[in-house]
Amino acid sequence: MKIHEYQAKELFKKYGVPIPEGRVAFSPDEAVGIAKSLAEYPVVVKAQIHAGGRGKGGGVKLAQSESEVQSVADQMIGMELVTHQTGPQGRRVTKVLVEQGLNIEKELYLSIIPDRSIAKIVVMASEAGGMDIEEVAAETPEKIVKVPVNPLQGIQAYHCREVAFGLNLPPAAIKSFVAMLKNLYRLFVDNDCSLVEINPLVITAEETVIALDAKINFDDNALFRHKDIAEYRDPDEEDPLEVEASKYNLNYINLDGNVGNMVNGAGLAMATMDLIKQAGAEPANFLDVGGGASAEMVENGFKIILSDPNVKGILINIFGGILRCDVLAEGVVKAAQKTNISFPVVVRMEGTNIEEGRRILAESGLQLTTAVDLKDAAQKVAEIVQA
Ligand code: GDP
Ligand code: MN
Repeated sequence: MKIHEYQAKELFKKYGVPIPEGRVAFSPDEAVGIAKSLAEYPVVVKAQIHAGGRGKGGGVKLAQSESEVQSVADQMIGMELVTHQTGPQGRRVTKVLVEQGLNIEKELYLSIIPDRSIAKIVVMASEAGGMDIEEVAAETPEKIVKVPVNPLQGIQAYHCREVAFGLNLPPAAIKSFVAMLKNLYRLFVDNDCSLVEINPLVITAEETVIALDAKINFDDNALFRHKDIAEYRDPDEEDPLEVEASKYNLNYINLDGNVGNMVNGAGLAMATMDLIKQAGAEPANFLDVGGGASAEMVENGFKIILSDPNVKGILINIFGGILRCDVLAEGVVKAAQKTNISFPVVVRMEGTNIEEGRRILAESGLQLTTAVDLKDAAQKVAEIVQA
């Protein structure tokens, strides 16, 4: 799960990682109120969306006065911000972070991530931080230091010193940096993070280190033990169909193509998507209804596929094991009766209670195309969407 910069900074504060003073605003008036309480100009107004590259996209602006804060916030809130991470359609901005502007001496990069290949937690840092870090990584990777930490041992002073030297920190900043890095590591482990990133971490004119940006991702599978973190979830940032699907415990991912597909089992779903592509079409979604799906889950899954306006054909590929073919057929028929489907649905079904499943589908009066095998099914659905 991703969270916003302002939420990540709240966590930073709790863990003693220095951040600029500031608060989140949902309206221009609120933004002005916060700017007033910050005492000094410039202040920085930052769009809060779950995507990076805001600086280059116009989502980070300095304001020198109350009226500038008003106009910048007015322009940002409600805009569709396009960055290299949002895709061309952009993301709607509904809130901004208003912060004290800092006197930046130097912009550094610092992150913590798990590296599964070596089973360690890696601290990455670069003195060439800021908005072009992707280029640094691609063209001058030697400017990035990586310090692996054994999770059983935890972060030690020597790890921190290695990172500090790699960053070429001014001696006056080393002590506070080491304390900050230890706190950041504690935050990472305590909260089952999958990424903590500060870009830029700045050295101010006063030679202190402070996190100007903050990005944290969490391991979804550990969220059950972090109720406070789970509350940071912002459904506005998620695909509405995916939010709907998660209510029914369906594994659904919206994609760009036009072949909707409903499959049981993630492996079979991946194979089905491959075959759809091989047949020359593009999947509109990934949907694993799961091994033990009920007729109701199938019905909800089918409805979600149908509410995607890009879908021009549907392939149902089920191997009935724990999910029996008759249960699946029942769910499909119920969903189809409640919605207008303007195209044939291709069904490839095998396994437990197959005869009963076929009978339910045949007697339903639905416009169905049956397939002899998976390849045949993929070709049939590709023909439908290409017609
Ligand atoms: P991102 O582009 O989405 O990663 O947003 P950041 O929070 O990293 O901001 C982008 C850039 O805006 C930073 O690299 C800084 O150069 C600049 N910036 C952000 N806050 C301040 C500030 O307080 N003062 C100044 N002078 N520049 C800032
Ligand atoms: Mn940044």
